[in-house]
Amino acid sequence: MLVDVHNHFSFYQEDINRALEDIHENRVLMLSVSTDMLSYNETLELAGLSQFILPAFGVHPMFAHEHIDQLDTIKRIADEALMLGEIGLDRKWTLDASHYPLQESLLEIFLESAQQHDTIMILHVAEAEFEVLDMLEQYSIRNGIIHDYYGPIDLVEKIIDKDLYFAFDGSYLKSYESEIRGWKERLETVTMIPDDLFLIETDGPSGSPRRMPHEALQMVAERIAEIRNTTADEITTQSSRNFFNLIKDDARLSEYIAIMKQS
Ligand SMILES: [Zn+2]
Repeated sequence: MLVDVHNHFSFYQEDINRALEDIHENRVLMLSVSTDMLSYNETLELAGLSQFILPAFGVHPMFAHEHIDQLDTIKRIADEALMLGEIGLDRKWTLDASHYPLQESLLEIFLESAQQHDTIMILHVAEAEFEVLDMLEQYSIRNGIIHDYYGPIDLVEKIIDKDLYFAFDGSYLKSYESEIRGWKERLETVTMIPDDLFLIETDGPSGSPRRMPHEALQMVAERIAEIRNTTADEITTQSSRNFFNLIKDDARLSEYIAIMKQS
């Protein structure tokens, strides 16, 4: 079974039925993150339609300032969620620095909940890698996925020591080379991650027209395979195995553990 560990499934909108068919036909488990309460509710509804959708609750750091008066509600929902994401800090796209402390207050709520219930988190760390790690150190947190890491190379070993997983997405496709800063370091990071700590994701839907989940994930697998000098099959197999290892002891995820065991 294939696993996409970070996608925004509810964003498929008018293509949603096609996308649902696609994940069933190809047996792709979608770890579907949310970015606010509305997208979480939509994702929960979709999870009700398909056993291949694993819903995660998150409020994206870029929207922290819009949610700062709802922290109690957020904590309550987080306490009941199967996974937490997309959560974290953002210094790349957030231009208003007065939002940074609000992002930290929001992340604290999620970290408290993750610590209390041992919930797996999917972390956004764009240009706030040190800050997120600092905050993680204040909590006893075991389970996390760093989504789309392209931070300092010096920090990679430190994250590996924490046994956090790294998820790589389509931003490594060669067509992005001219747009992306630190391209060489990015590729180097992909080669540095041990076989048992890397995962693949699409951060989809992406492409215009929207690419269907299986094709999008396959493209990522092929590209990551090229960078890690192996085969796409090996990448998808290893990523699924790693994801299984990440969730296998979480009783709340028993339904998904059972599906993954079938294939
Ligand atoms: Zn995302």
